[in-house]
Amino acid sequence: MLQSELAFQKCIAPDCGATFDVQEMHVACPRCHDLLDVQYDWNRLPVPDRLEYFERKWSRRHDPLCHSGVWRFHELLPFAPAEQIVTVGEGQTLLQQADGIAPYVGVQPGRLHLQYEGLNPSGSFKDNGMSAAFTHARSIGAKRAACASTGNTSASLAMYCAVTRLMKAVIFIGSGKIAYGKLSQALEYGALTVQIAGDFDDAMVRVQQVARDLGIYLVNSVNPFRLEGQKTIMYRVLESLRWQVPDWIVVPGGNLGNSSAFGKAFSELHCLGLIDRLPRLAVINACGADTLYQLHQVRGVRWRNGHGDMSGVAEHYERLTREHKKASTIASAIEINRPVNLRKCLRALDTCDGVVRQVSDQDILDAKAQVGAGGIGCEPASAASVAGARLLVREGVIDPEQRVVCVLTGHQLKDPTATVAYHSGDPQKFNEVLGSRGVQHASFANRAIAVPNELDQIIQAIESHS
Ligand SMILES: *Cc1c(COP(=O)(O)O)cnc(C)c1O
Ligand SMILES: [Zn+2]
Repeated sequence: MLQSELAFQKCIAPDCGATFDVQEMHVACPRCHDLLDVQYDWNRLPVPDRLEYFERKWSRRHDPLCHSGVWRFHELLPFAPAEQIVTVGEGQTLLQQADGIAPYVGVQPGRLHLQYEGLNPSGSFKDNGMSAAFTHARSIGAKRAACASTGNTSASLAMYCAVTRLMKAVIFIGSGKIAYGKLSQALEYGALTVQIAGDFDDAMVRVQQVARDLGIYLVNSVNPFRLEGQKTIMYRVLESLRWQVPDWIVVPGGNLGNSSAFGKAFSELHCLGLIDRLPRLAVINACGADTLYQLHQVRGVRWRNGHGDMSGVAEHYERLTREHKKASTIASAIEINRPVNLRKCLRALDTCDGVVRQVSDQDILDAKAQVGAGGIGCEPASAASVAGARLLVREGVIDPEQRVVCVLTGHQLKDPTATVAYHSGDPQKFNEVLGSRGVQHASFANRAIAVPNELDQIIQAIESHS
């Protein structure tokens, strides 16, 4: 099978629609600078006629391509032949029915599910996309791969480079904004780490220039192959629900790669006749990084088959520049003001009758504490989905009877600083880390009890608190 005939890259702008070979590497359409999709000639590809087919692969655990939660679905992202696939066992994730947290969100028991992507090998959903981008990079013979990152993309890239030894990682980070858990991963996995005096949006601009000038393979989510891997998060959600489509998918929005990938996943499954309806999509911004909210919800910018009026986008960005506005939120993974996948996300919102909301850092940390009390540790950005679902239930947009899936994008240990500051009860630590973000109180704090080193006082403290 000649893969490149069956898979190709295509510009998403309907007025352009230029196509490119799957063996080429572009971060934008060379003709019009819009984003590229990976597209397939489905009629000539062996697509199973029932989704249960994928579930059956699950039992073949000895085969790495069946064990991987990404490549088990290879037929739905067939851009590379099996022998070129790179996998480290990503995508062993969990959809958990979260009855303990359902009352907080405001839905009926049995209706809230959390898709916990913290179980990935590098601790975030980024591994889904990285295994796909890595596979593509390998198939075109790349020797070095680069990304700009708020932390998790670099941790993932560094891990794939270290495990497979197929490439060298070069990562760009902004100053002072990266959570320690993530930085520690990149350093330990041996990535060449470049810290720019600037924020994530600055690092993103620079990495694209450097990748172009030095011919380094770029794995940021402008890379359309990454989004192919991220589609599988939704396949696994469906698999866990015995192939029933939920009513809502709620996801945090940063660079908007996930929301874009989810829209593409559902739209393809629908076109292939593998699902009979689409879920609704809710993308949740942090108030301090609210570009999508401002554009979609406030200014009413819409995709409209690629013909929507985008003048509001340029105006919004001009205003950010004029007012020197920088993204600012405790949820560092979504602290992004110029999301690279904006247009694809608008398309996904169109496909899935989507809504966008913003939540405060206070709401995010309170939701995170509730998720934690339910036994799943997530990082702040992840909890935006739960805070957003709660808001949408209160607004009456989500009905308490509806089935809601919130995506928890990353592991709790990625960013322990915020968690400890929230729970510690130490006013100085609280103000330093959280007060500066406008967080006023820790509604669900679980404080440590200080006791003298005396047995009877220790026993008394335990008895009086239990
Ligand atoms: C990257 C990341 C996000 C943002 O996802 P996008 O696809 O860029 O919108 C959210 N949460 C975590 C933990 C992340 O690592
Ligand atoms: Zn184009």
